Amino acid sequence: MGLSTDQLIMVLNALPDPVFVLTEDGYYAGLYGHSDPAYYHDGHQLVGRSLYDVLPTEVAEWIMQQVALSLEQQRLIKVEYPLSAEQVKGLEDQVGPEGMLWFEGHIQPFPERINGKRAVIWVARNITERKHLAEELLHASQIDPLTGAYNRRKLIEVMEQHFVQFKRYGHPLSFILFDIDHFKQINDQLGHLTGDEILCCLCEVTQELLRQSDLLARFGGEEFVILLPSTPADQAYMTAERIRTTLEHEVARRLGAKKSITVSLGISELKPEDSHYEQLMQRADHALYQAKRNGRNQSIQR
Ligand code: GH3
Ligand code: MG
Ligand code: MG
Repeated sequence: MGLSTDQLIMVLNALPDPVFVLTEDGYYAGLYGHSDPAYYHDGHQLVGRSLYDVLPTEVAEWIMQQVALSLEQQRLIKVEYPLSAEQVKGLEDQVGPEGMLWFEGHIQPFPERINGKRAVIWVARNITERKHLAEELLHASQIDPLTGAYNRRKLIEVMEQHFVQFKRYGHPLSFILFDIDHFKQINDQLGHLTGDEILCCLCEVTQELLRQSDLLARFGGEEFVILLPSTPADQAYMTAERIRTTLEHEVARRLGAKKSITVSLGISELKPEDSHYEQLMQRADHALYQAKRNGRNQSIQR
């Protein structure tokens, strides 16, 4: 027992995701399915129109590239792309999800020509929720939960990228490693929770002193790192001194005089002879060690 033609069309229209029939010259030859406005805008009025008439040129061009690829290679192509209803002419009056949406497109060559043109079936699934969840997970994997600063994993990732840029284009990168002085005593005297509060306050104050392009990361315990792209070490030294002198009074001002801290800082920059970014970290580490030995509450550049 098979389905009648009417029933087959009902099946197509009952498909949960939009199924586009796109011709190789960029026309919407058909559109089926996608009746739930919680996920999709009704796009049936697009049928018969050109992609170039309803979409921004760069979006239409990108879609055409995927169509051509699928036709050329005669295979299923999978893509992910952002698109909002505001970008599509003709959807203005339709109800549907607002803002930027993410779609997963499955593009399959159609076995027959339509009006003499080759064509593909393009199924677009709304994956916005999944995409946001993936972004949240990625963000969580890069953040220190106590202070909200980036963690070591993110630091290493960004440092690797900067090292490549430095080797390729000579873009300078400076590195500040800093550590709270006698933090063990502070914990012992005021308790671990107060210690935590101080760590958070330190990050807040430090972040306010940095540029958008600088990256603050918790290296571990009460040790922090700042990456300063496009910054020579002399300039990084001045930033380090500003952080040191600001933290010295600002943490106490915000949390109360008993909770005052000082920090020691080591500064380094990438050098042409460096073969690995770890050498940058090592120089900063030596400088920090020296700052501690010299009596703490100071910045040293190497
Ligand atoms: P120095 O001036 O030589 O750096 O002395 P210090 O006491 O700061 O150094 P040490 O490495 O001996 O002690 C670091 C302390 O930092 C010990 C540890 O309990 C504390 N610490 C590390 N992580 C945390 C944290 O997440 N919260 C709190 N409250 N304390 C932490
Ligand atoms: Mg310390
Ligand atoms: Mg330490």
